[in-house]
Amino acid sequence: MRLFRERLPQERPAVPPTGYKVAFPMLSWDGTRTGFRGVSLGGRIVYGALDEARCGYGRRHDSPARGCDCGFYCLHSAAEAQALTCATDCRDAVILQVSVLGAYTRYERGVRYARQRVRNVRVGACRCGRAAEAFVRTETGLPGWRELRGTCVACAGGLRLLELREFAGLAGAWVNVTTSVGDRAAAQVGTQAGLPALAAEAALLRARLDEFQERLAELEGDPEGGPWAAG
Ligand SMILES: [Zn+2]
Ligand SMILES: [Zn+2]
Repeated sequence: MRLFRERLPQERPAVPPTGYKVAFPMLSWDGTRTGFRGVSLGGRIVYGALDEARCGYGRRHDSPARGCDCGFYCLHSAAEAQALTCATDCRDAVILQVSVLGAYTRYERGVRYARQRVRNVRVGACRCGRAAEAFVRTETGLPGWRELRGTCVACAGGLRLLELREFAGLAGAWVNVTTSVGDRAAAQVGTQAGLPALAAEAALLRARLDEFQERLAELEGDPEGGPWAAG
């Protein structure tokens, strides 16, 4: 019996799982804090570089919770996260490399989880195609928070810049900021109206739904066959 138990797959990795996601970089109104805003469900919540998930619907439960879609999400693949930034709505988003902490559920394409540490912030190219050199404040934000986007110095004109290093420093001592160049092709694909974003999000939600339906089937379970009955 003991042997059997030891052979069961265990999700207690020595190193926390790593994932990738897209988010909008944010600066607090007084310029003393930086954070990130999610691109879909968590779009109204700003989280820090080390933070716990909160319910995107404002429900008062620990997140993630059974029967609710909330929680942090990330993808296994950096390339898939990169593809999300092709969506028009996400062209100014950055790619975060995160460590998944706390309870999590692993899906085929990603993970849904309770806590995360942002390790790296990859800033896409300036809209002109050159590498981003700093952040500028955009016209959008949330109460207390202004959204940022990467820019090269030439395109920033006279706008006030926030150095990438400064952003990292405000985020947390462990946070690294890098830039990517050659995103021009990706940026031009950007008019494909958010299809990759929807597809990736849908894949994760569908996986969650499958799991939910499985549990429901277990609960409703055939009274004769019990919860382990096949089919
Ligand atoms: Zn919730
Ligand atoms: Zn530029």
